[in-house]
Amino acid sequence: MKTIIEPFRIKMTEPFRIISQDERVEKLDKAHQNVFLLDAEDVAIDLLTDSGTGAMSTDQWAALMLGDESYAGSRSWKKFEATVREITGMKHIFPVHQGRAAESLLSLTQVKPGDVIPNNSHFDTTRANLQYAGAQPVDLVVDEGLDPEDESPFKGNMDLEKLDQCIKEHGKERVPFAMITVTNNTGGGQPVSMGNIKAVKRLLDHYGIPLVIDACRFAENSYFIHEREKGYAGKSLIQIAEEMFSYADAATMSLKKDGLANIGGFFVCNDPDWAEAFKNALILREGFPTYGGLAGRDLEVVAVGLMEALEYDYQQYRHATVEYLLNKMIETGIPVMKPAGGHAVFMDAKSFFPQIEPLNYPGIALVNAMYEEGGIRAVELGSVMFGHRDEHGNELPTNLELVRLAFPRRVYTQSHFDYVLEVIKQVWEKRDTYGGYRITKQPKLLRHFSCWFEKV
Ligand SMILES: *Cc1c(COP(=O)(O)O)cnc(C)c1O
Repeated sequence: MKTIIEPFRIKMTEPFRIISQDERVEKLDKAHQNVFLLDAEDVAIDLLTDSGTGAMSTDQWAALMLGDESYAGSRSWKKFEATVREITGMKHIFPVHQGRAAESLLSLTQVKPGDVIPNNSHFDTTRANLQYAGAQPVDLVVDEGLDPEDESPFKGNMDLEKLDQCIKEHGKERVPFAMITVTNNTGGGQPVSMGNIKAVKRLLDHYGIPLVIDACRFAENSYFIHEREKGYAGKSLIQIAEEMFSYADAATMSLKKDGLANIGGFFVCNDPDWAEAFKNALILREGFPTYGGLAGRDLEVVAVGLMEALEYDYQQYRHATVEYLLNKMIETGIPVMKPAGGHAVFMDAKSFFPQIEPLNYPGIALVNAMYEEGGIRAVELGSVMFGHRDEHGNELPTNLELVRLAFPRRVYTQSHFDYVLEVIKQVWEKRDTYGGYRITKQPKLLRHFSCWFEKV
């Protein structure tokens, strides 16, 4: 059969309503033109993020009832630990309440001011946590990863030459670890090849620098390796995941992604000193090491979810939905990042709205247009999210002005995406009529979540 279908039936439904266009314009105005500040009930199709927005399976709901809420050493912790160990093979395993808690405690314990942390591309919270600790996060993705038109299979790969230069330039003493993000969320959800992970590890070993994997979408990355990398078609996704983690010294994880859970995260490592420091920080900030800010029932849900994320049929269906929307957009001529990423379609807002200057935020213009037109909520990944400044404090634009339509896991069907497509086509047809934005109020870090905009 050529048609790839959802490998599940729907057992429970959640209604949503679609308010009128006039109401949407008014709501967005009240939200200071920032879709993060909207009430979710005013959104029809919510593609803001794939983080914690997935639907749980019957097995997960059943597991939830088995939650052992003992403070220390609960049965649920043992299941969680066994599952995470099976997949990652790591010696020390710590639950945390979500991915950024792992990043924050890792930064707190292993990073000092003046350090430099390379990554293919840092996620926004990773970047912010490292900066908060006084370090400089640097993005060293391969050049293909910066070209939305390039159709290379592994556009999330780390550029080995840039990595080597970066270490030489700053000195290995200033690089306490390097990271690699699978898949490369901020670079279009593009995968990293096993060959690249292996080569990065070899290079870092030469300098004695540990490798930390940002593993949020490790199962999606395993699927891409299975489909695209020579020698992996005959392996199961769990075997591929195990090999990926075998090259890492530690990993941070948001279980709101490939944990198929609504909340959760973990940190894992092999080094006993790292583990000891992390554990002490964890007790101070998150909770006792056998629950780390999660309820026993959350640990149960994750133990099931991690394994479901590694089921081939599930990944195949998920990828088919992303490709479906992407291909329809390409047919219409809408500028998108190619090829399809793992968890989202990324639109190229710079090409969509060439009349809008980067520092008038074409990505925000596109996000807001889609909300006003059809109640779709997306997110900008461009100069607002990754905005940085030169030494005089002047704002600099980023390389790519992307808009991400993230796919919540097991939530929307093909007709929902047909609706999304119709809305985007309508915006596309009158694309000359849109203008940009300016920021009227912003915090210092992670400004995209809460800043205010006005139309210029
Ligand atoms: C979501 C995400 C994080 C942070 O996880 P949270 O659970 O949102 O705190 C870190 N890295 C990547 C690549 C992510 O996608």
